[in-house]
Amino acid sequence: MAEKNMEQIVAHCKNTGFIFPGSEIYGGLANSWDYGPLGIELKNNIKKIWWEKFVQNRENSYGIDCAILMNPRVWEASGHVASFSDPLVDCKECKARFRADNLISDFSNHSVNPDLMTREEMSKYLEENHVPCPLCKKSNFTPIREFNLLFQTHRGVTKESQQDIYLRPETAQGEYVNFLNVQRTMRAKVPFGIGQIGKAFRNEITPGNFTFRQIEFEQMEYQFFCHEGEDEKYYQEFKQKSKEFFMALGIPENKLKFHDHDKLAFYAKAACDVYYEFPFGWDEVNGIHNRTNYDLTRHQEYSGKSMQYLDPVTNEKFIPYVIENSYGLDRAILAVICNSYDREKLPDGEEREIMRIIPRLAPFKVAVLPLIKKDLAEKAHELFADLAKDFRTTYDETGSIGKRYRRQDQIGTPLCVTVDYDTLNDNCVTVRDRDTMEQIRLPISELKAHIKSIIE
Ligand code: ATP
Repeated sequence: MAEKNMEQIVAHCKNTGFIFPGSEIYGGLANSWDYGPLGIELKNNIKKIWWEKFVQNRENSYGIDCAILMNPRVWEASGHVASFSDPLVDCKECKARFRADNLISDFSNHSVNPDLMTREEMSKYLEENHVPCPLCKKSNFTPIREFNLLFQTHRGVTKESQQDIYLRPETAQGEYVNFLNVQRTMRAKVPFGIGQIGKAFRNEITPGNFTFRQIEFEQMEYQFFCHEGEDEKYYQEFKQKSKEFFMALGIPENKLKFHDHDKLAFYAKAACDVYYEFPFGWDEVNGIHNRTNYDLTRHQEYSGKSMQYLDPVTNEKFIPYVIENSYGLDRAILAVICNSYDREKLPDGEEREIMRIIPRLAPFKVAVLPLIKKDLAEKAHELFADLAKDFRTTYDETGSIGKRYRRQDQIGTPLCVTVDYDTLNDNCVTVRDRDTMEQIRLPISELKAHIKSIIE
C-alpha cells in the first residue's frame, strides 16, 4: 500500500468526478465543494447505511426533515447566538489566520487539550511555548478574538422591517423542537429516537483540509430520548454503534479512536468524540453526548411551551434526557475516500490507482464493456439496460479493454462485465473482479445473482 497524501487524493477526486472545488470557474470559494456524479452516489450510499442503522432497523425510531431556517429564538435557547465561537488568532508576519485551540493541539501533538483551557491560558501557552505559525514558522500572533460561526441572513422587504435569521449550524435543534410532535403522532413511548440528515452552515474561516471543514455541510444526527437513570446505558450503547457504523463503511477499527472529554459543558454528563486517522492526522468524525434534559428544558423556557412527556404507565410527567449522536456526512465520505484510495504496483511493474471501496458503497456496482464497439455495442447496451434496473451500472466502449479496466479500478467499481464475440453465441460474459483482477466466465442469466452476492 502506497503512502497516502492529501494532494493526490484531492486531485483524484477532482479528475474522476467525486468532488469538485465549489464555483471553480470563478476562482472557487474557500471551504466550499461540490459533489460530482460519483461523489453523489457515494454520499447517497452512506446516508442509506446510516438511515438503516439508526432509523429504520430500530424499534421506536423515527425520521424527520426540518426547515433550515428556524425562528431565531431557537438559537437563543440553544446558546448558539451567545457563544458559538472559535478563538481566532492572526499571524502578524504572514497574515494567515488560525484557531488558537488547533494550533495548541497540533503543536503539542494532541498531548495538551485546549478544551480544558480558558482563552487567557491559550494565549499564555502560545506565547510561552513560542508556538510557530504553521506557514511562515515565526511566532508572532495577535491576541485571541472570538469569532461567531453563525451564518446570519435577513428576512423582510424593507430594511426597517427586516428580521435577522440564521442558517442552522446543526440539525439537532429541529429534532428537539419537534420532540412532542413526533411523540404524539407516532404514539411513541420514551425511550425513542429521532433521526435527521440535512445541511448545516458554519462561517468557518480557518483552512479546511479538503471537505473536512466546510462552510456548508451535511450532518446525520440522531437524538435518543430516555429516562434519567437509563442515560448512561444508552450512552455506552451509542458509542458502540458509532464503531459499528464506521466499520460498516469499511473503516478498520485501528483507524478509529474514541476520545472522552475531560472537561464537560456545565449541563453535560458525558461526551466523546470519535476520531479517524486522516492522512493529515487524527481528527473528529462524530460526537456522542449525554446532554441530560438541558436542551428540552431550554426550549420549554424560551418558548413558554411545556416539553414534558407524560408516561402512560406511571403517569409521571418529566423532561427526558437526550443522548445526541452527531455525524458529519462529509467527514464520513472523506474517511471512506482516504481509506480506500491506493496506488498499487502490479506484477508486470505497472502501477494502478484503485479505490477499494466496499461494494455496497461503490458509486457504480458494475461496468458493462463491449470488447469491440462495432459488433458488440448493441448486445452490451441491452445488457446495460437490464442490469441498470437493479444496480447502479455504467457503460464504457472507448479505449482498449485494459485501459477501461483501469478506469473502473480508479473509481472503485467492484465488477467489470465484458461482452465479446462468444457472448453472441453462448450468452456468457467475462466478469472481472476489481481487487483480485481475476476473471470468470458466467451465463448472463446468473449475472444478477453474482453481482448481488458481491454487494452483500
Ligand atoms: P470541529 O471541532 O472539527 O469544528 P465540532 O466539535 O464543532 O467540530 P460538532 O459541533 O460536534 O463539531 O458537529 C458534529 C459533527 O458535524 C462533527 O463531528 C463533524 O463530523 C461535523 N462537522 C462540524 N463542523 C463541520 C464543518 N465545518 N465541515 C464539515 N463537517 C463538520
